[in-house]
Amino acid sequence: MRWDGANYSCAYDALFTAIFQMWIDNPYPSSWFLRASTTYTSGLCDGFVSFGTGGATLEAVRDAIRRDLHIAFPRRFVYGQTGCSVEDLADVVLNTDRLTWIINVRCKSCESISAPLSYPVRVLTLPFADTVEQCLKRWLLRKIKPPTCCNGVQYNYDDVTILTGPHMACFGVADPRKGCVVATSISAADAPWRISSVIYHGGFHFVMRHIDRRHQVWFNDGMNNNARSSFEGTIMHLPPDFLIDRTSDAGVTQKMTLIMYART
Ligand SMILES: [Zn+2]
Repeated sequence: MRWDGANYSCAYDALFTAIFQMWIDNPYPSSWFLRASTTYTSGLCDGFVSFGTGGATLEAVRDAIRRDLHIAFPRRFVYGQTGCSVEDLADVVLNTDRLTWIINVRCKSCESISAPLSYPVRVLTLPFADTVEQCLKRWLLRKIKPPTCCNGVQYNYDDVTILTGPHMACFGVADPRKGCVVATSISAADAPWRISSVIYHGGFHFVMRHIDRRHQVWFNDGMNNNARSSFEGTIMHLPPDFLIDRTSDAGVTQKMTLIMYART
């Protein structure tokens, strides 16, 4: 998605490119997720289909959703040479009551498993990028408050099994520490989630990396290289903290701000 310099678009470019790449990687479950999630993701799905048949450019798809966002939230999603927060954008585009995480919990004392329990999908802000699954499970326990089984024994995150959840899970990262080994998957009772995109912020600009189904890492910046992705390596052959940040061509450090996982 080519950056719009008259109406700064990099937050939209980064988030929508991440969603587009997930759709290209695995169109059927991605389309289902996008249509079910919010009016904005549903609009993106229509736009991607139109792009696929030559009916629209990705920039036109972006601009249409951006206009809808501006109409709904004129003060949050502005035009002109002003940035917007990508976390704010992800909240509005991806938070939904129509899709849920479904878990069960195991009692430490008698080993019995609870009935399935659910909570709606939210873009959760994590403290760090290495304990994604633990933080997600702790958050679900706090929100769901499962009834205790034997003698009021409290549940811990490792008593939680994720049964199902949204095809794409998006998290904010509050403290992207140098050297952090970024979690590359979230386990579930059956199909796990794998890391699919990371969005970075630095020097008043958002850029992103996409990790495809063959674990190949691609860098994308709407302002450079004609918005084409460049190949950086295969995840298992890159340093373990590679995904936590990057240095731009101008020497600016760009830190992880959002991390996304797609179900395999
Ligand atoms: Zn029990």
